[in-house]
Parts: sequence; structure tokens; C-alpha cells
Amino acid sequence: MPPASTHYTITALEPNAHLFETRCTVADPDPSGQAFRLPTWVPGSYLIREFARNVVAIRAQGCDGPVAVRKESKDTWRAAPCDGPLTLTMRVYAFDVSVRTAYLDERRAYFNGGSVFLCPVGREHAPCTLEILPPPAGALASGRVATTLPRDGAPAFGFGRYRADDYDSLIDHPVEIGDFAHASFEAGGVPHDVTITGARDVDLERLSRDLARVCQWQVELFDGPGARAPFDRYLFQVTAVGDGYGGLEHRSSTSLLCRRDELPQPGVEAVTDDYLTFLGLASHEYFHSWNVKRIKPAAFVPYDLSRESYTRQLWAFEGFTSYYDDLALVRCGLIEPARYLELLGRTITSVLRSPGRRVQSVAESSFDAWIKFYRQDENSPNAIVSYYAKGALVALGLDLTLREAGASLDDVMRALWERFGRTGAGVPEDGIAALASAIAGRDLAEFFARFVEGTDELPLADWLARVGIAVNLRAAQGAKDRGGKPASGSSPRSGIGAKVNADMKLATVYAGGAFERAGLAAGDQIVAVEGLKATADALRTLLERRAPGTTVTVHAFRRDELMERAVTLAAPAPDTAWLAPDPDAPHAAVERRRAWLGTTKEAAASPAA
Ligand code: ZN
Repeated sequence: MPPASTHYTITALEPNAHLFETRCTVADPDPSGQAFRLPTWVPGSYLIREFARNVVAIRAQGCDGPVAVRKESKDTWRAAPCDGPLTLTMRVYAFDVSVRTAYLDERRAYFNGGSVFLCPVGREHAPCTLEILPPPAGALASGRVATTLPRDGAPAFGFGRYRADDYDSLIDHPVEIGDFAHASFEAGGVPHDVTITGARDVDLERLSRDLARVCQWQVELFDGPGARAPFDRYLFQVTAVGDGYGGLEHRSSTSLLCRRDELPQPGVEAVTDDYLTFLGLASHEYFHSWNVKRIKPAAFVPYDLSRESYTRQLWAFEGFTSYYDDLALVRCGLIEPARYLELLGRTITSVLRSPGRRVQSVAESSFDAWIKFYRQDENSPNAIVSYYAKGALVALGLDLTLREAGASLDDVMRALWERFGRTGAGVPEDGIAALASAIAGRDLAEFFARFVEGTDELPLADWLARVGIAVNLRAAQGAKDRGGKPASGSSPRSGIGAKVNADMKLATVYAGGAFERAGLAAGDQIVAVEGLKATADALRTLLERRAPGTTVTVHAFRRDELMERAVTLAAPAPDTAWLAPDPDAPHAAVERRRAWLGTTKEAAASPAA
């Protein structure tokens, strides 16, 4: 007998107090007392977030009146035995502007189901219905509703009844309510919507045209020309703010947080650096529709949202996705190859500036994401490596290695999709190495041992030479220099081995650098250099003039204690990369480069800046 459905309601009860009220009704509760649980983490963001901490009140009602409800653990409640239907009513505080939990004020409501809907234990697989109720008054009452939850009576973009196959599905379709801008386009044969909260001055036509191009390219990457996307519709749920960045992937939608400046402005034809950041983010989350939402590590099949789910494979699920997010932009013709090489140069730069790559592998970084990557502190650059950035470079190395063997990472993605995505089977921990070796026609165990499980320096110059690209390294020119371009203007002669905030506080002291050797630490407040007041300009000028080996006197406060340190300046680290086609590259390498960065037949819709 199929399980009876669980019914939910949600209403924006007190927008000014940021309180949602949700109800969860079970027709036939467990006779021994029905338990209810909230997730502790949201898929895609690998940190225990304890959503139950935002629950401010909970009560239960059975068919004969109120029912006692007792908390059993940090995330679990149990109602006393009673006859059904049993309804738990919960008030939840929601004031997190990120894409991971929930937000409510008088103008906007947003929620990820996992942070507001209780799951009746034992009924995880029961179908669900959800009534999204309008608040009794205020601006939200006349707002629209954007979600890819299937409608079950609700009008399009309206309040009313929605449904989900099970709890996992209920919480994988976030909901945006408010007064948002809206555009639509088609890609992969299915409708796509974009909603934008927080910005009005947006060139929606251009945004739709550009996103359609990226989405179509990705659908065809996995399934070939003319293929249909693996969902019935897709939604880009965008929130624009003054300063913020983030995205979270879902099975048929994504929530994106961006700066207003990153959205295309009417009358501006160029792909600005800001807009490129947005396109990269949208491309990244869309790629996850396959890579992590359908092709999943075995550890996520099914998700256990009550505790950490360990996998050593995030370097592939996030790294491959980070590799393809920008690559898709050049291969679909939105940007020129030179612009793509600039982005790749920045990724290389970010990895070269992480001494932690020498002590932690991307497989270890994946496994420990819960306690390290998602909980970074002042020593993180020395102790950990990003499975996003280095994972993307490992993907690059794998792609260029496979291309020499007449295949490519595209073939690996398609094989993962066929074998694991379509079947729903999880990818075993050694699954990607085995698949890549089979596609390469040779054992790639050494590649995975050195660059995935090990901390060997990535041979980027060798890899990129295979496609006729030269890797150039130089010293950073100031705090805003993210790499990707040749040096312009004056360069430092020496370095201090530290990242200094604008207020002259040390953000990071890099392992083995001049400041570390002199006994300075993250958090120290630099007050004087060579007896003169320390400013960013003065420090930059000093480093442009003094040669490596020179000793300078630095005064700093650690907490409230003044210290004097003699710092022997070092040669600046060549940690800033820029890439350029090698004019002397052999013909075969140039051919491989064309195949690697090959654009679609039509000319680019938006010229690159
Ligand atoms: Zn991602």
C-alpha cells in the first residue's frame, strides 16, 4: 500500500519578526508516538548548520485536542501517542540572506524546505502536498511565487497548492515570494525562467539570450544535439544585493546571490568582468543539474541529512563543475578564447597562492570539507586546498591528458551520466579513476595518486603545452591583482609573505614567508615600518624599492602588546599566472587547442570586452 501523503502549509506569519509558521499533518501517526526531524545540513553546502536552532516554538494537535510534544535530541521531536490526523505547528526564525536557509521580511520571503519543514520519521518516502498561503496583509500578500515544485492547483507563479514525490523532493525546490522581475527562454526543449529580486535595471532580454546559449550547450554536452534537458522546466532564482555572492544547486532550479553590478545593464553590450562573474556562477549551478544532482557520489545515495556524509570526491563534483562553468562560456561562443585564458590564469593564481596545496590533497579536502573548507580561519591558506579551484585544475589536466589520447573529459562526463546519472546509482569512491582510465585506454592510477590523493605540484606548464599555451608566472602587483594578465606598471622587488588588509591588519601570514620568519602572525596590527606610520601605499613603495635580503624594522600590536620585529625581505613569490598562446607551438598542439576551446558555429551573440 503506498504511504499516505504528508500535508504541509507555510505562511509568512510575522514578516517584521521574520517568523514563518509551518504545519505538518500526518494522517496516521506512529501509534507509539510520531517522531519529526529537521535536517542538519543542506545538500550542496557541506557544513552542519543545525536548522533546528531557528525553531522558536512548536506544538502538536491530534484529533482530540492538544498533544504533548517532547524534544528528543537537537533535531528531533516526538509527539505523544494519539489518533490522527496529527498536526505539528512550528514557528521558525528566518533572516538569512544566503541561498542556504530562509529569509522573511515585509517585502520578500524565501525558503529552502529543509530549514522550515519537519520530516515525519519513517515517512521520508511518502508523497507530500504543500499549501503556500498568502500573509493576511502587506506587500507580500500581492507577491508572486517562484518555484519548480509541481503545481497541484496553484495558479502559475501563485499562492496555493503544490506537491512533491517525497520529502527529499519537497526540500529540493526552494521557493521565492515577492515582487520580482521575470524573464523566460527555452533551452534543451524545455521552458526556463529567471526571476530577479532586488534589481530592476536589468537587460532581461540579453540575460535570457546569453543564459539560453549556455544552457543549450550544456544539455548538448551530455546528450547531443537536439536532446531534451533532464527536467520539465528550470528556474534561475536570482537575488541581487549590494555585496554578496553564492549559489546553491537543486534538481531543476538554482538560487543565486549576486551583486547588482553583475547583472547586465541595458545599453551595455560588452561582457564586463562583473557580468562574466554572474554568467560563470549561473553556468556552474546549471552544470550541477547533472554533476551532483543526478550523478552523485555513492555517499549521497540517499542523502543522510542528520549527520556529515563523507566522500573524497568533492574535487570532482565541484572541481569538474568549476572547470566546465567557464569553459562552457567560451565553447558556447559567449566569450573569446583569450578571455577564457584570463579566467584560467586567475584560477591557477588562486591555487599558487595557497601554500596548503603542499600539505592537503584535493581528496582530503573533500573528505574534511565539513570541518575545514567550510570552517576557514586565518591559517586555512597554509593548511588546506580548495577542491573547487585545484579540482578545476585537476579536471584541466585530466581533459588535456585524455585529449592526447584522442578522447576528452567530455567523454568522461557523458559516461558518468549514462552509467550513474540515468540509473541513479551512486559513483563509488574509485569510480571516476576507473572510468577515466577506461576512456583513456590506459591506466591513469599514477595521475590520480599524484594529483588527487597526493600533493604533487600540478605540471600545468606541461599540460598546457599540449594545447600550445604558455604559462607565465610573475609577482603579484598589489592586493587587487588576481592574475590572468601580464604585469602592468611597477612590480615589487621583494615580498613579505603576508596578506595585509586595508587597515594594515595581517589577514594571513603565509607558511615560510618573511613575516612568519620574523615572528609576525595573522591578526597582528602593523603600526609602523622603518619608524614611519604604516599605510598600504607606504608598504607598497618600500617593497618596490628594497631588494630581497634587506632587513626592515616593523612595529605591530598583537592584541594590546607592542612588538618590534626585524623582517628580512624575501624575493616576491612568483604566484601570479597569465597564459598566452605559444607562437612556436607545433601544429598538433594548435589543432588540439582548437578542439579544446572550439566554439559553436554561430558567431558570438555578445562581443567580449
Ligand atoms: Zn558547486
